[in-house]
Amino acid sequence: HAKEHGVEFSRYTAAMKMRTQSRVELENDMRKGLEREEFFLEFQPQIGLDTGKMLGMEALVRWNHPKRGLLPPSEFIPLAEDSGLIVPLGEWVLKTACQYNKKWQDEGYDPVCVSVNLSMRQFRQYNLTERIDSILQEVGLDPRYLELEVTESMTYDIDTALEQLYRLKKLGIHISIDDFGTGYSSLYYLKSLPIDRLKIDRSFVKEVMCDGNDAAIVSTITTMAHHLKLKVTAEGVENQEQLEFLKLQNCHEGQGYLFSKPVPASEFESKFLSRKAG
Ligand code: C2E
Ligand code: CA
Ligand code: CA
Ligand code: CA
Repeated sequence: HAKEHGVEFSRYTAAMKMRTQSRVELENDMRKGLEREEFFLEFQPQIGLDTGKMLGMEALVRWNHPKRGLLPPSEFIPLAEDSGLIVPLGEWVLKTACQYNKKWQDEGYDPVCVSVNLSMRQFRQYNLTERIDSILQEVGLDPRYLELEVTESMTYDIDTALEQLYRLKKLGIHISIDDFGTGYSSLYYLKSLPIDRLKIDRSFVKEVMCDGNDAAIVSTITTMAHHLKLKVTAEGVENQEQLEFLKLQNCHEGQGYLFSKPVPASEFESKFLSRKAG
């Protein structure tokens, strides 16, 4: 038995070691990848449900890894968060998203807001507001065309969250709560947070036509958002039936494969940006 355990143990440590090795490797790759410009953004339109017009866009990061190929955020964001690399990566995303938005405005397209995901690690930085302010100044983007998406996990430390959100709001940018309904924020917090929008998590939207509980949740979040004078966006809208349901609830905006999956900047520009007629 002792021997068996020994074998098990060494197998276990070997697997652990491998995992640690590939983690460290991926971390180093990420560091280099940032310098070598292997990361890029895709954009997904946010559509006004009553008009069908594009009202905003979300920037989503991708990694073109030299050996592993195209990696989705799920393959590297968690690691970036653990290692702290999310801070430089997140700042690159912020700056790049702002640069695209500014460039498109300069080219005469109708201005829209760009939404950028902010990880908790970034949110907790004491000088976050100053960093964002200096990015906006450097790029020359009007703050009202930037929206930050934070998650309910910020309410873990409500005093810090409130202070941070007030500072960010003073810059003139917008703030939304992403994946709303999946976290622990209480209604008490919701009442006091200076936010502009709730994004209903796509897990609720997914089953809205076949699960009465999900339908009730989506409908309730939407109504609550109206009463709290918050905008509301449904994530993961994939079909016409979901769209009809959301319209009936007077949900303002939707994002999802029904309208478009996230696409690279050039494709986004040609498909979704428009100039005022005349
Ligand atoms: P998220 O912020 O909730 O972003 C929406 C995700 O849902 C995106 O996945 C998008 O491609 C996907 N999606 C959009 N419409 C649909 C739909 O109709 N059906 C389904 N099934 N999925 C849809 P993506 O791009 O793989 O990103 C996953 C997550 O990674 C994001 O979730 C966000 O939490 C994180 N992420 C992405 N980019 C960044 C970033 O720049 N910084 C940080 N901190 N996190 C990011
Ligand atoms: Ca998001
Ligand atoms: Ca989301
Ligand atoms: Ca998310």
